[in-house]
Amino acid sequence: MQVPFVDLNIQYQSLKKEMDQAVIDVLEQSVFCGGEAVSRFEREFAEFIGSRYAMGCGNGTDALEMALEVLQIGKGDEVIVPAMTWISTASAVSRTGAQVVFADVLEDEFTLDPADVERKITAKTKAIIPVHLHGRPARMDQLLSLAESYQLKIIEDCAQSHGAKYQGQMCGTFGDLATFSFYPGKNLGAYGHAGAVLTNNEKLAAELRMLGNHGQPEKHHHLRIGRNSNLDTLQAAVLNVKLPYLEQWTEKRIQHAHTYQNLLKDSRVKLPFVPMENRHVFHVYAVRLHKRNQVARYLADKNIITNIHYPTALPFTEAYAELHHTPSDFPVASALQHQWLSLPMYPELTNEQMEYVCRHLMEFLVS
Ligand SMILES: *Cc1c(COP(=O)(O)O)cnc(C)c1O
Repeated sequence: MQVPFVDLNIQYQSLKKEMDQAVIDVLEQSVFCGGEAVSRFEREFAEFIGSRYAMGCGNGTDALEMALEVLQIGKGDEVIVPAMTWISTASAVSRTGAQVVFADVLEDEFTLDPADVERKITAKTKAIIPVHLHGRPARMDQLLSLAESYQLKIIEDCAQSHGAKYQGQMCGTFGDLATFSFYPGKNLGAYGHAGAVLTNNEKLAAELRMLGNHGQPEKHHHLRIGRNSNLDTLQAAVLNVKLPYLEQWTEKRIQHAHTYQNLLKDSRVKLPFVPMENRHVFHVYAVRLHKRNQVARYLADKNIITNIHYPTALPFTEAYAELHHTPSDFPVASALQHQWLSLPMYPELTNEQMEYVCRHLMEFLVS
């Protein structure tokens, strides 16, 4: 048996007729930037999340950079981000000229620890970027109340959490802005790079739209120094085909998480924690164990591909070496980086594959 970490081809095969037609339609119409496919996706994705405005852009990293820019965050400002996330959450802040301030994550939830966030707030702090890591909602109630007390902006990094809900409310509707990535492996993935910024704020929406289009509200009228970051028509056409299936794919991921949970409940593996009132969308299913690297190698020998999200907490990457952090600054993130292992997770994963993964994982643990 083979168990890949993700398999994008199965999904393509299941959509082949519809997808091929949607791509051919774009080729035949030969409108490759903008057009109806882009505005349709922006409208329907905003509706799906429950936000008023969605602006497509080049990728999830651009989305973060543009969200920070329209909030006028830059030199002299500080932005608090989790010590454990994909690097874009932090690098987007650094690229604005603002200072990244890392906060640790919660032991069982892997999302921003509100108590550590509060310790890191200074007079220069302008914003917090919670990440719904692995698809599990961050503690938005506590983070929002900090934002209110200290007059801070919130940008939700929703790159891993399409359709996740915190206390019944869709992630991406809590902050001033929310950023999404549609990188192919994300829960809603394009066939290349794509992203979006969502907001309920009309003024920020107009600024974003202008920023991504060379600072021009209309052609050859450059109000600002902008940039060029847009959702390609072909990617929008792909996303339009996929969006109606997102809910059923998410339900599959949640079912698979239950299956893993049942298969592994008697093992010594620490399973991901999900608060009952929230909807975790399992972009990643990460377990915690000792001898993680040996387990990963053992499983790879059985054709089971695992991954690590992430092997180095951001404060300890070379990119952020100048901050001179030590593991004791972020005890949870420093422990996680050595212990967690992401098991195969995608909607089309079969029960047989999950049984095979768990059998070999437990075989290693008792050996
Ligand atoms: C994937 C990801 C991004 C970046 O998205 P790209 O589309 O790859 O630029 C940002 N933040 C998080 C948490 C991510 O997982």
